[in-house]
Amino acid sequence: MNSGRNDCQRISRRVVFTGTALALGAAAAATVVSQATPQEKISQADAKYQGTPKGGQHCDGCVNFQPPNVCKFVQGNISPSGWCQLFVKKT
Ligand code: SF4
Repeated sequence: MNSGRNDCQRISRRVVFTGTALALGAAAAATVVSQATPQEKISQADAKYQGTPKGGQHCDGCVNFQPPNVCKFVQGNISPSGWCQLFVKKT
């Protein structure tokens, strides 16, 4: 008679445990990404960086640009008038 209730409790505990494990895994993954991102820049070639603007977009107008010549995500000397495929417009 009570076995139906016990099954529900078991399933419920399993769901809670699985949800907790997934949440912890997601938190751990987010921590790894947030620690790795600032230190690991990609090459200019991989970013398809060019020293000239593209379609009105240029590094000086990108959120990733750090004057006078640094990018948060792309290695090397970055021109304010350059561009790459990681461009994100400043708001
Ligand atoms: S366009 Fe590319 S290289 Fe230029 S600042 Fe933005 S992300 Fe960096």
